Amino acid sequence: MALILDIYARVSRLGDDRQRSTGGQVEDCEARIVERGAQVGEVHIDSGRSAWNPRVKRPDWERLMSRLEAGVTGGVVVFDMARFSRRPIEGERLILAAERGLVVLDSEGEYDLTTANGRKTFRDQLNAAAYESDRLSTRVKRGKRVKATRGEPNHSWRPFGFEQDGVTVRESEAVVLREMVARVLAGENQDHIVVDLNQRRVTTSTGGQWSRESLKQLVLRARYVGQVVHNGVVVGHLPGEPILDSETWDRLNTLFASRRRGRPLSDVYLCSGLVYCAHCGHRLTGRPRTSHSPYPDGEVRRQYWCQPRAVRGGCGRITVDQRELDRHVGALVVRILADPRHAKAVEAAAKATEGKRRPLRAELTECEHLAEELSGRLGRREITLKRYDVAMAPLDKRIAELRAELDGLDSVSTAGTDATVEAASREEWTARWNAATVAERRNLIRQALTNRRIVIAPAVRSAGRPKFDPKRIVIEEERHAQ
Ligand SMILES: [Zn+2]
Repeated sequence: MALILDIYARVSRLGDDRQRSTGGQVEDCEARIVERGAQVGEVHIDSGRSAWNPRVKRPDWERLMSRLEAGVTGGVVVFDMARFSRRPIEGERLILAAERGLVVLDSEGEYDLTTANGRKTFRDQLNAAAYESDRLSTRVKRGKRVKATRGEPNHSWRPFGFEQDGVTVRESEAVVLREMVARVLAGENQDHIVVDLNQRRVTTSTGGQWSRESLKQLVLRARYVGQVVHNGVVVGHLPGEPILDSETWDRLNTLFASRRRGRPLSDVYLCSGLVYCAHCGHRLTGRPRTSHSPYPDGEVRRQYWCQPRAVRGGCGRITVDQRELDRHVGALVVRILADPRHAKAVEAAAKATEGKRRPLRAELTECEHLAEELSGRLGRREITLKRYDVAMAPLDKRIAELRAELDGLDSVSTAGTDATVEAASREEWTARWNAATVAERRNLIRQALTNRRIVIAPAVRSAGRPKFDPKRIVIEEERHAQ
């Protein structure tokens, strides 16, 4: 029997970090439940009653707790922990009920309350929420807002990169900050950066050691682009030149916004950006289809589609199942690569320009990865279309530039080279394909296709259950207009 999970949402209050309609919250939670292959139980919505005032009765919360305690539901998905409870005592009640193995999820993560570690994380979250609400009584809040508007920091501690006043730049730290940001953007492993800072005895503003989390919080602080933010809203600007320019800031935000837990999405969509719409010529990209029934193994169904967008969008008319297409393209690529004529030409050409191509391809892979993650987030409604388009515009531009450069190299490289390459057999190519990572497979697809491309034709409507039709995969000569 499938796991049943309830949903807990609240009408959002003014000043919430994430203003979100209750309907939107519920939709997000439902998507998470479907992703896990569980069933939606009851949906509880509290209409804006204070989560931390002990005198306020919250009937839906009580109802949810009794369902959890009676074992009627296997757990709860909460849109935001701070909405669930700001009183640790309520959290303890949940932990007590959870000894049977309740699942508690919020939009950031999952708490396994049967383990000590899960309980600790959960308690930390609740404590943080309780601390926030204690601190932010209305009067304090008003005072803070006034201070914030004047550019004064609202913390007793000094922000890294600034003097105690929070306005004057401390140049020695600003240098370190710019270095860190440059390294993060260059794709350096953040754990390396953290270790390096600690080894160099560069401390945080409070004299502590760096962690991955403190690094992230640091580089995403709006104060470094001169913005004074209070409750998620820009309420003022700092005088003078900001430590970081706004373009760098946008890139950082795009980078972190695109990161999420678990397997990177781009590892799922083998053919994303490599196959084209037969109607309009756009590249197809991947998206999950939580509204469709999952694959037989319980994973969420996915497809490629010609994604319409406000800027440079596709026609939206072509969709094709991800698993079927990946499987057929894999077989097709092996067939082409194992053909001695192709193998020879392709390997020789690849060798000749590989040196020039490699850095371009690495950057392209990174850009495509980001684009993919962003479109995944849009698909899961984690970001709005507007925000998506803002983040995508510079990325689209760079991807187009890189592709043009790579295309240029490809067309040069097919002209004669003297490298002789042994053609591998179909079995050898199959083995190579099977052992390859998704990134390597994408390169194999490009190799097999040199100067040609895969176009996905529309599905022919037929009676009965729709079945994947391999004839929809068409190879055609590349048009260099793109
Ligand atoms: Zn199209």
